[in-house]
Amino acid sequence: MNQYRGRFAPSPTGPLHFGSLVAAVGSFLEARSHGGQWLLRMEDLDTPREQPDAADTILRTLEACGLRWDGKVVYQSQRSDAYGAALARLQAHGLTYPCGCSRREIADSILAPDGALIYPGTCRNGLATGKTPRAARVRVGDTVIKFDDALQGRICQDLAAAAGDFVLLRADGLYAYQLAVVVDDAEQGITDVVRGADLLDSTPRQIYLQRLLGLPTPRYLHLPAAVNAAGEKLSKQTRAAPVDGRDPVPALAQVMRFLGQTPPPQLQRATLAEFWDWAYANWNSERIPQRHSLPLTCSL
Ligand code: GLU
Repeated sequence: MNQYRGRFAPSPTGPLHFGSLVAAVGSFLEARSHGGQWLLRMEDLDTPREQPDAADTILRTLEACGLRWDGKVVYQSQRSDAYGAALARLQAHGLTYPCGCSRREIADSILAPDGALIYPGTCRNGLATGKTPRAARVRVGDTVIKFDDALQGRICQDLAAAAGDFVLLRADGLYAYQLAVVVDDAEQGITDVVRGADLLDSTPRQIYLQRLLGLPTPRYLHLPAAVNAAGEKLSKQTRAAPVDGRDPVPALAQVMRFLGQTPPPQLQRATLAEFWDWAYANWNSERIPQRHSLPLTCSL
């Protein structure tokens, strides 16, 4: 039996907010309750969306919350060689192709359930004359991916219908999240991925890449994602309030309630050490609600 290795992989697009704290605490308590390690990876690959200092602010807030990680923080911005090597392996097997389509050219494509555009396959059999390669896409063919999520149960996705041939190397020269996350989860020896259900749709694409690259597939557990009253995922775009690192216990107690745990009301005013004593002693993953999203206001 592999030793449990979990991780938290924030994107430094803004300070840590309630939604990301849910993923941090859920993955942390799952790892610790299995006697496992909890690693931290900064997903600072999408430079245009990043905010200066957000990575450091996130790390300081995690520390202030008592969320101690094992080993050194891995920064995706320093791992381009590994992503390039993985892409080269796929290319060498004819599993990818260059795509010369602009965003405008695929703007009228069918929408995937997550709102992304499904690529119609224009460049799949070669670039039309006059087109220059902009991005690299992986062929999905008629692959159907099935996996059992520890909370959400059996998930089944037809990749062509849900995502189409997806991008591994973007037109702006950056490696795509789907490729980087697969390379890094394998490199860090992650056995268990615990994260928000907003990423459930991405998991079949990641499992597909793991299979193409001959990498192990970790176990997955997708927690409910926190949404605001309008049903939008809490994020920088929806102006989610940052977690207050000077007084983190109320937010941590809220996370516990959000994840179906039953902290006593006085925990709200406990010290950080008392909070974690309670959390370690009482964490029960079977109580986590099996919903893909939960309005934050209703759970408080
Ligand atoms: N960096 C991603 C995010 O913050 C999470 C990736 C993952 O957990 O796989 O949404």
